Order: sequence, then structure tokens, then C-alpha cells
Amino acid sequence: MQAFKDKCEDMLTNDDLIRYGRQILYTGFGEEGQERLKQSHVVVAGLGGLGCSAALYLTCAGIGHITLVDCDRVEPSNLNRQVLHYEQDIGERKVFSAARKLAQLNSSVEVTPVFKKVTERNARGLIKGASLVVDGMDNFRARFILNKACVSEGIPFIHGGVHGLFGEVTTILPRRTPCLACIFPELPQRRGAFPVFGVTPALVAVLQATEAIKLLAGFGRLLTGKMLYFNGETMEFTLCNLVRNPNCQVCRTGEV
Ligand SMILES: [Zn+2]
Repeated sequence: MQAFKDKCEDMLTNDDLIRYGRQILYTGFGEEGQERLKQSHVVVAGLGGLGCSAALYLTCAGIGHITLVDCDRVEPSNLNRQVLHYEQDIGERKVFSAARKLAQLNSSVEVTPVFKKVTERNARGLIKGASLVVDGMDNFRARFILNKACVSEGIPFIHGGVHGLFGEVTTILPRRTPCLACIFPELPQRRGAFPVFGVTPALVAVLQATEAIKLLAGFGRLLTGKMLYFNGETMEFTLCNLVRNPNCQVCRTGEV
């Protein structure tokens, strides 16, 4: 009986068919693709510039369940790029500020705010059972922790990074494509505040959300084994092939 109830909850309602009608029209996606999004659970790690825009578009698209993970509170200097936080939210925990806006945008999406710092100790527990994880972190130390947890749990990890007007995106399928530790053998060093315009994380996050939608619904070609670089000064996109490191400390063991 429970299985039947769960199945019914995964099916599209009349409201869904209206709301998502324009994307359901897309060849290769259709109602089946929409149902797959509804059955999905995405973890957005970090509710800064990347995480806000990614969560916004994933909520628009009708992902069934979104977990938001962040340990910071909204500051005035966030407002040039973190589009789910407004002036009246300054001082509030970002996960709650973001969850409130997402609920207003699409009340049919289940949003779970988690006010926690991602650590070696808790990372696997935070992402367990997720369909995929979107990287909205602002530092590589946290990204490496998430990358390792995603490889351990076998969960796809969609990496995005920004600096100034430059950005990068890749989709990592554990033990099938290069992981973050294969790509960056050493932890990239960066201290303190770095320059960033709001448009850069918005663009990169929308590319991450695009990857998430395709991966979950099962169509299109993914940025697997490839890094897409964006140069906002010249408006050039560059696609580079990535290779797995056979000696990678993270994804080497248990190779398939
Ligand atoms: Zn690796």
C-alpha cells in the first residue's frame, strides 16, 4: 500500500503538467523526464553565489526534494551575487533565507535546510541517498571533502567554480570520470575574499543546473571528462578534456 502511495506521489499532477508544460514539450524530456526530476533528491552544498542560482533553477525545474547545506549567515557583501538573499535577510542563516524564497517560488518542491558546515566527519551523512550533489562551495578544501564523500557514496558531483569574470564547470561520475582530486592533484591555495561579479556565479550555476537536469532526466551529453571554462572578459567558452589519475588517492580504489 505504501509502495502504491509512493508511486502515486511520484506521478505528475494536473498542476505539474501545467507548470512544467513548456519543458515537457522538449523532445527527449517529456512527461517521463519531468517524473524523474520529481523523484530526485539534489543536495546543494553552499548557498552563496553558485548555490543560490543553482537552487533557484532546480526549484523552477521541479526537482522533488532539495537539501540546502550551509553554515553562514547573510552579510551585506553577499548581496551582489547571492540572489536568494535580500536586504531584510541580513543576519539570518542562509539556508533558511534561501528555503523561504524557494518555497514561495514553488511550494511543491520539498526543501530541507541544513545549517551545518561540511566536514570530513559529516559529509557522507549529509549527502547519503542523494541523486546528485551540486558544488556551491567557495573554497577548495570543502570541495575536496565533498568530492571524496561523493566518490565514496557513488553520487554524481557537479563542480562549479568562479573567480572574477572566470568560471568553470565539470560533471563528475564517481570512478567513471576524473574526480576533483584527479583534476587538482594539489589543493588550490586561495586565502580571504576574492573578486567576483554576480553574473559569473549566476552563469556557472545555471550551467550546473543544466547538467543536473540532463543527468537526472537521462538525456543530452554531459560535461563528463571535460572542463568547460568561461572567460567573461573575452566571452569565450573553452572545453578541455580531463583524464583520470590512475594514482588518485580518492577514486583509485574500487575501480570499475
Ligand atoms: Zn580521482
